[in-house]
Amino acid sequence: MTNFDYDLFVIGAGSGGVRAARIAATHGARVGIAEEFRYGGTCVIRGCVPKKLFVYASKFTEEFANADGYGWSLNGTPTFDFDKLVENKDKEITRLEGIYRRNLDKSGVELHDSRAVIEGPNTVRLLSTDQVITAERILVAVGATPNVDAGLVGCEHTITSNEAFHLSEFPKRTIVVGGGYIAVEFAGIFNGMGSETTLVYRGEEILRGFDMDLRTGLHEQMEEKGITVKTKSTIASIEKHEGGLTVTTHAGEVIEADQVLYAIGRRPNTAGLGLEEAGVELDKAGAIVVTPQSQSSVPSIFAVGDVTNRANLTPVAIREGHAFADSTYGGKEWHVDHSMIPTAVFSQPEIGTAGLTQEEAEARFDNIDIYTSSFRPMKNTLSGKPGKMFLKMLVDADTDKILGIHIMGPDSGELIQIIGVTLTMGATKADYDRTIAVHPTAAEELVTMR
Ligand code: NDP
Repeated sequence: MTNFDYDLFVIGAGSGGVRAARIAATHGARVGIAEEFRYGGTCVIRGCVPKKLFVYASKFTEEFANADGYGWSLNGTPTFDFDKLVENKDKEITRLEGIYRRNLDKSGVELHDSRAVIEGPNTVRLLSTDQVITAERILVAVGATPNVDAGLVGCEHTITSNEAFHLSEFPKRTIVVGGGYIAVEFAGIFNGMGSETTLVYRGEEILRGFDMDLRTGLHEQMEEKGITVKTKSTIASIEKHEGGLTVTTHAGEVIEADQVLYAIGRRPNTAGLGLEEAGVELDKAGAIVVTPQSQSSVPSIFAVGDVTNRANLTPVAIREGHAFADSTYGGKEWHVDHSMIPTAVFSQPEIGTAGLTQEEAEARFDNIDIYTSSFRPMKNTLSGKPGKMFLKMLVDADTDKILGIHIMGPDSGELIQIIGVTLTMGATKADYDRTIAVHPTAAEELVTMR
């Protein structure tokens, strides 16, 4: 037993913090956790989970349109009730938050509904009660927050993904600014729900960092679905008037909209947390600098998840939290390998990606074989719906090892999880070739590529 109130005090009850707290408690540590907003963090409350529910909602338009080819007729025009969706989504989020709280409680973690700030290497203050708590170790898992373009004329008329989940009115015309995960996902959501949607991106092509075939392919298919994609475009001002918002680009183009959603990246929530005063090193982006074991420059202070700006994904934060707890309290030392992270973008169509992009593979290897396949998914045949499935496999020709797989089309998010397993195991092209196809599926193309 130490003289501290807790062995571990976790600040932030999102994906990483909750996992670390529960695992540490399971290993016998005395754990406290503080959360200033809602348990579950960004992913559950205003990220992955509500986003995916909105994606499901937005896909019905296409399903209704395609039903006819399969013999169905919908009598009357289907109508969409955005308020009902928000209400049902909120109920589900509240249910999930309850599960998070109960699971922490069951593991023996003490919950504090308060903002906590660091006052020293072993001290935090709970602002709601002014209580000072000591802990042998502190884990910072406070996540990140959406950036806004503060210098923009009319910035106050913009929203971020945080607000998008609670709009008081569904916009007839939406502009989404940005070209990353959140921007392309929300462009698909608003478009699918029936809003006239424009994506405004400053660069040459959306989804910088992804394989170029996916970037150009998604751009094309988003436009086919009715989204206006404007690349090399930036917004100069937004003016509010009675009928909505007048948005002017730096090129002088004027776009009328009801809602402008900025999805231009996220910044770590480190401001005002007392970190620098305690001697914790932050990088230029304000993220906590950590070792592979998630230890900061102050030995008793650790950090996991988006606040460390390593790979800003829920499953990565969970892994980092788990590794920290096992290594520190479970007698099992391990750390997260950030080199192979399969990921999905819930754009429409969906994207799944694992391993190196073609551009990265070509830069690192002398001989790579590239296999691609592009075809109309079977579901689109009777419906006559446009849209193609695309699959790409990159192989090191010298060793036969698969370096990367990139897919776009229905269920790519589901497929890439299993593809990720094979790549983590070090799969070769020969492994895929000797696997018997599952027919008729889109994924079978992966084992028949020539
Ligand atoms: P990203 O960093 O992915 O993308 C930010 C986008 O905004 C880029 O296109 C960037 O352009 C652009 N941008 C940045 N600054 C400006 C600016 N001042 N003006 C105009 N455009 C700008 O951030 P997101 O907000 O999309 O997502 C944040 C994180 O959340 C991601 O890192 C991702 O890991 C995670 N996430 C994951 C999801 C998933 O797994 N499905 C879903 C949603 C989020 P440029 O390319 O030129 O830099």
